[in-house]
Amino acid sequence: MANPERADGGPVHPRAHALPATEVARFLGTDPSEGLAPREALRRLAAHGPNALPRRRGPGHVLRLLRQFHSPLVYVLIAAAAVTLAMGHLVDSGVIAGVVLLNAAIGYVQESRARRALDALARMVRVEATVVRGGATRRVPAEELVPGDLVTLQAGDKLPADLRLTATDTLEADESALTGEAAPVAKSAAAVGPDALLADRTGMAYSGTVATRGSGRGIVVATGADTEVGAIDRLVASADRNPTPLTRRLGVFGRRLTAAIVALAVLTFAVGTLYGEAPDRMFTAAVALAVGAIPEGLPAAVTIVLAIGAVRMARRNAIIRGLTAAETLGATTVICTDKTGTLTANAMTVIRVLAGGAEREPGLRRLAEGTGRGGGHAMRECLLAGVLCNDAELTGSGGQERIVGDPTEAALLAAARVEGIDPSGEAALAPRTGALAFTSERKLMATAHRCADGRLRGYVKGAPERVLPLCSGRMGPDGRDRALDVEDERQRAQSWAAQGLRVMAFARFAPEREGPVREEDLPGRLTLLGLQVMHDPPRPQAVEAVAACRAAGIGVRMLTGDHGATARAIADRFGIEGPALTGAEIDAADEDTLAGTAVFARVSPEQKLRLVRLLQRRGEIVAMTGDGVNDAPALRQADIGVAMGRVGTDAAKEAADMVLTDDDFATIEAAVEEGRGVFDNLRRFLAWTLPTNIGEGLVVMAAVVLGATLPILPAQILWINMTTAGFLGITLAFEPVSPGVMRRPPRPPRAPILSRDLVRRIVLVSFILVVGSFGVFHHALATGAALDEARTAAVNVFVVVEAAYLLNCRSLDRLRAPVRNPWVYAGIAAMALLQALLTYTPVMNALFHTAPVGWASWTVIIGVGILGYAAVEVDKAVWRRSDARRMWAGRAAPGTGGGAGPRAGTAPVQDRA
Ligand code: ADP
Ligand code: MG
Repeated sequence: MANPERADGGPVHPRAHALPATEVARFLGTDPSEGLAPREALRRLAAHGPNALPRRRGPGHVLRLLRQFHSPLVYVLIAAAAVTLAMGHLVDSGVIAGVVLLNAAIGYVQESRARRALDALARMVRVEATVVRGGATRRVPAEELVPGDLVTLQAGDKLPADLRLTATDTLEADESALTGEAAPVAKSAAAVGPDALLADRTGMAYSGTVATRGSGRGIVVATGADTEVGAIDRLVASADRNPTPLTRRLGVFGRRLTAAIVALAVLTFAVGTLYGEAPDRMFTAAVALAVGAIPEGLPAAVTIVLAIGAVRMARRNAIIRGLTAAETLGATTVICTDKTGTLTANAMTVIRVLAGGAEREPGLRRLAEGTGRGGGHAMRECLLAGVLCNDAELTGSGGQERIVGDPTEAALLAAARVEGIDPSGEAALAPRTGALAFTSERKLMATAHRCADGRLRGYVKGAPERVLPLCSGRMGPDGRDRALDVEDERQRAQSWAAQGLRVMAFARFAPEREGPVREEDLPGRLTLLGLQVMHDPPRPQAVEAVAACRAAGIGVRMLTGDHGATARAIADRFGIEGPALTGAEIDAADEDTLAGTAVFARVSPEQKLRLVRLLQRRGEIVAMTGDGVNDAPALRQADIGVAMGRVGTDAAKEAADMVLTDDDFATIEAAVEEGRGVFDNLRRFLAWTLPTNIGEGLVVMAAVVLGATLPILPAQILWINMTTAGFLGITLAFEPVSPGVMRRPPRPPRAPILSRDLVRRIVLVSFILVVGSFGVFHHALATGAALDEARTAAVNVFVVVEAAYLLNCRSLDRLRAPVRNPWVYAGIAAMALLQALLTYTPVMNALFHTAPVGWASWTVIIGVGILGYAAVEVDKAVWRRSDARRMWAGRAAPGTGGGAGPRAGTAPVQDRA
């Protein structure tokens, strides 16, 4: 398939894994250390197209349309249409068939819209790649990669394309997405045999897999559909569209209800006919019962409410990766959050460098002229260590600096630059020969360099408690070794940390050989160079958001890799109170202590996982943030795993349920607020829709039992259900979040959706509908109306009561909904127009057996609507009273998100909506 002579990044070389990397580079016309020229990359992008898999289409239009007919209700309706046709009622049969078609069309359109919204969300989480072009490193969207591009990899990166590795440093990749093999595979730059299987091609790294350890570089050999993933067309990490727990519960509820109602309908027909009723009258009644009582619109409505919630969350910078999160977020009782970057801005500035007995303040001088003085050799080496033991890059200068990489490391580069050291110049003078990568467990990083004098030199930077014990001496201003007082240095670091500042220690050593630096080679061989102290300002919105969470009864715990004193000081600034635990103390603490702790410092990802599990065992719904590869298990375990959109690794994003595009804690709080709003809207919708089904079912049953004429015909019931759900009920999904949602405690996770108050409300409204429609029907007949006119009046009772009740439902327990929702009024206006058409136009009269209704009936109908409205408002007062009683009874919510300040003990347990 390939033509090995082509050097333009044409088709994939079939044996790239078996060739030396240099050979592959030549074949692809690229420079193994400089990469492609930017212009050439552009040319290839135009020639090859973007590096993206063809979007999976999902089920086609026809299939999706057909699927709309796959529901028990539709089967009942189709059967009804067939039987009606057989009995010679042509028009009725046609109306039922028409409604079935219309229903399918509406379902199809709504489903497509929800799908499009979710697709758009999925696309908002973009994968980027670090590419070297013309010798310069930059981040580009993964779609812009072309064959021949030189890509650098770090632990946590998702592989953006298929690569032939040119250099690796303890690189490992999780290829389970491709090979099914769960254990990470060690990678190297060496070629393997031409017959090696995919899983054994260690010199290659494949698109869609994840680098789990180390770092490396490689040349892109295939992009988009040419990659191995593309070839087997397995889309990794498409957002899940599984039903949420709630939709599943409602689905089960709906199916059981449907079965029961169908059984009841069959029974009605059988018993009625046995007792000598006319079969076709009984058949009509049975169909009316089935059509009326089955809440067919429920699953779709729930999905729509959740999807609207997801879109709202995205607007507030929280992208959820599946509807489950929209539902769970509202029940969150504890948020375990990172410090760096989430509560703080992750805009690090080195404010002090302490070395060789001197101090410098690069942060203060950033914009001023000149460099600081003092510290001699030790100072210079300390700054140099910050530059060389560093994977970040600064581009631009002055106020226009842009950083590539970790802000902590970028701050070191900026500080060195202010102090007169040229970072890229120094890096070029002392090329790196090996490294020990930073991980959040290790909390230090080391590199080895070949210096201009030909000697090897190693630099280490990391948390002072980790680096100091490895040192055997310290460097004086003259460059000579001095005795080291570890305790003295520790005190110094501690006093800066206690001010909420990040302190890092820098050291130097003499590596014995080139190649990876091993951790076990370091102890006792380091010379301490100095300390650098960094400031990271708190995010102002995050301060308010933490307070908002506490008012909402949500516990906030801070988890950080930073020093205990730093963590404690920052926690104070956020009003996060309570004890703090550091490192080994966390392992030693018992469960109760852990559950009561608000600040965890020097945590490892493994400890995060244990903490999530422990909180969950105690009945908490846990949201947990993370950004590293090793955070993935904790993110998966958490009820809501939260990944950082900016600094987070691809591995963390893949494991997360929610990605924050701004990394801000305030966004988590906003998402919880929207989640609570979503749940409120679901309850509003249920409260509104169920009485209609129950009312219609009861009306039909009552008529059959009493041997009376049906006040509403099947086709009319269909009309009511279709139009009111689409024009009235769904407007509740657009109800904005009430301002009070964050002033009440979290919803108890296991509480039934239909609380006792809600059931009472539903029964009340069903009763009003039954009595109202029967009453108006018989009143009309008694005052001389024809049967069709009386039925039309009964239909209008349903619609008018539902419209009035819609206004009630905007708040389940208050007089008036606190926020405006124009959709509700637009819906009611549209519904009024439709009812006018149904009641007064001859066509509709003929189709639905309706007839114009006189003013006398209208007065009664509207009267019923007003009465219904008033009755529900009275019921709200009862609801509020029972809320208040519960409050006095002092029943607390089961979640015990405490440890981070008092719970809002004053709000009632019941959800207010
Ligand atoms: P955080 O939870 O604050 O993001 P990290 O796990 O990133 O914590 O870092 C933990 C500690 O490791 C820091 O306090 C710092 O001392 C050290 N550290 C952070 N980044 C680096 C790095 N790039 N190289 C070496 N050490 C680092
Ligand atoms: Mg960090």
